[in-house]
Amino acid sequence: MRIDILTLFPGMFSGPLTESILKRAQEEKLLTIRFHDLRTFGLGRYHQVDDRPYGGGAGMVMRSDVVVAALEAVVREGNKRKRSKRNGKPWTIYLSPRGKKLTQIRVEQLAKKHEWLILLCGHYEGIDQRIISGGWIDEEISIGDYVLTGGEIPAMVLIDAVARQIPGVLGKDASAEEESFSKSLKRKREYPHYTRPEVFRKQRVPKVLLNGNHREIKEWREDHLS
Ligand code: SAM
Repeated sequence: MRIDILTLFPGMFSGPLTESILKRAQEEKLLTIRFHDLRTFGLGRYHQVDDRPYGGGAGMVMRSDVVVAALEAVVREGNKRKRSKRNGKPWTIYLSPRGKKLTQIRVEQLAKKHEWLILLCGHYEGIDQRIISGGWIDEEISIGDYVLTGGEIPAMVLIDAVARQIPGVLGKDASAEEESFSKSLKRKREYPHYTRPEVFRKQRVPKVLLNGNHREIKEWREDHLS
């Protein structure tokens, strides 16, 4: 999968995307992430990307001409680089508190259906509505009913959740199939886990997990989905 991120703050992504599983996924070419600094598409000497809202009020709004120029450039560049047909059309997501709330089901669908995602990170009051109504955005996604300062953290949340659904990303030892909200756990929250020591500060591991009886363990785990 390839993911293009349009942001005013590309520096925010180092760390979460350059460590651990996401780092390995990129090294193994299962995931390619490219950053595009929206500021470079800004207007005039000061590379202006935002302006005052029509109708007045606090805050600034990201300009449609700047954002659309950036989106179109990213699609053009991506199409030039495109190697396979599956890479074909990008799916463009604007991270927004007004969007539909992200769920595990949507995460799975995104990983399965799309080879190429473009993520637009807003800032200030958000983006000019005509970027959405004009057809440059395929989907608005929210990571929850609260407001963050920018779309960068939501983009990282989405990338992390989607990347673990890409075959091979989690490696052999871990599987995304049997986790909270997965189909095999009936979309419920996972059962509790225990490891050594067997007794920790007077708390014992449930006996059933020690007896090696796979059927009983399975039943116990099913009973402890929530
Ligand atoms: N004025 C907007 C509102 O009241 O809905 C909030 C804008 S917020 C300060 C700036 C940017 O952060 C948004 O354009 C969006 O990209 C991002 N953002 C903030 N909260 C988010 C959330 N819960 N989910 C996804 N993106 C979010």
